[in-house]
Amino acid sequence: MIKQQIQELSNKIFDDVVANRRHLHSHPELSFHELQTSVFVANKLEELGLEYHKMADTGLVALIKGDKPSNNVIALRADMDALPITEANDVPYKSQNVGVMHACGHDVHTSSLLGTARILTELKSQFAGTIKLIFQPAEEKLPGGASIMIKEGVLENPKPQAVFGQHVMPLIDAGKVGFRAGKYMASTDELYVTVKGRGGHGAQPQQNIDPVIITAHILTALQQVVSRFADPKSPSVLSFGKVIANGATNVIPNEVYLEGTFRTLDEKWREEAHKRMKKMAEGIAESMGGSCEFTIMRGYPFLINEEKLTAATRGYAEDYLGKENVLDLDIWMAAEDFAYYSQAAASCFYRLGTRNESRGITSSVHTPTFDIEEDAFKISTGLMAYLAIKQLGN
Ligand SMILES: [Zn+2]
Ligand SMILES: [Zn+2]
Repeated sequence: MIKQQIQELSNKIFDDVVANRRHLHSHPELSFHELQTSVFVANKLEELGLEYHKMADTGLVALIKGDKPSNNVIALRADMDALPITEANDVPYKSQNVGVMHACGHDVHTSSLLGTARILTELKSQFAGTIKLIFQPAEEKLPGGASIMIKEGVLENPKPQAVFGQHVMPLIDAGKVGFRAGKYMASTDELYVTVKGRGGHGAQPQQNIDPVIITAHILTALQQVVSRFADPKSPSVLSFGKVIANGATNVIPNEVYLEGTFRTLDEKWREEAHKRMKKMAEGIAESMGGSCEFTIMRGYPFLINEEKLTAATRGYAEDYLGKENVLDLDIWMAAEDFAYYSQAAASCFYRLGTRNESRGITSSVHTPTFDIEEDAFKISTGLMAYLAIKQLGN
């Protein structure tokens, strides 16, 4: 049976996959600069006898064709970039590129997909259909490697009927995975706001236009965009984490600078919210004698896991891992550029458990102490191979 064969192969390649992950982990590269990583992936694809072509500068795409005839195509995606974080872990595979760290597990996704590719290559004679491997750059940086790859045609020639991605999840124990059908992750927009007034002596407010008080009103009023205009059934978040009014106890500054984030799960509402926030902030500033420049930098769209595909994939995962190892995920208001694939094709983005509390492996992604329980590779490569083969109709 194909399941047993995949399990045997995934055990056989486990040590190599871990070695690949450790190599990538100790040589992290920032978004859009994945040069050595790209060469590493290219070499591994060549070793498997796979042709590849480059996209978005450092991205790579390769095809594995099953020997049996079929027009079905599915795509498997991994991201390759690291973050500007200095690693605090004292491990043999610690980052050798100071100030850069694979703190979001993209080393895990890349090495895992290489392992999946190896399994699928060895089983080519046994399945029908084509698997497109996508190694993309720059998940962590706007405009996102996914959006560039899609513009350059990664979802054409051949066009996949489904796209799969996996992402590490330190909240789930290694050996388990998580799924959520439907809307899963948020769109994220960055807000940059300058509230302008006229500064002066703190003792003479009547002669000044106080941008601090204007800002206080704006910050409070903007929350009503979420609490009064958003559909309560659909989540929205508005947070301002930076507010700079650089006056003094007795100095009213000329302007106040704000930075924030707006997240939601509905594209139509996203557009409306942008207009409402801008109008409200500008209106308040103007009514109080000042002005406001409200700039929105659009981030990724929301991520949606296609219902039927996700239900079917979840079923394959239960079949491969056992029901007890497949969990339900909650909505997660972070963003992920896999969302671009999910907006363009039926997609399923699931979570790979990487936690091991007994070894102290519990840190969140994007922290200097993030690490994974490498036992997760015992399931990650084989599971993806299994669901790919199943989804192709085998
Ligand atoms: Zn990340
Ligand atoms: Zn990530």
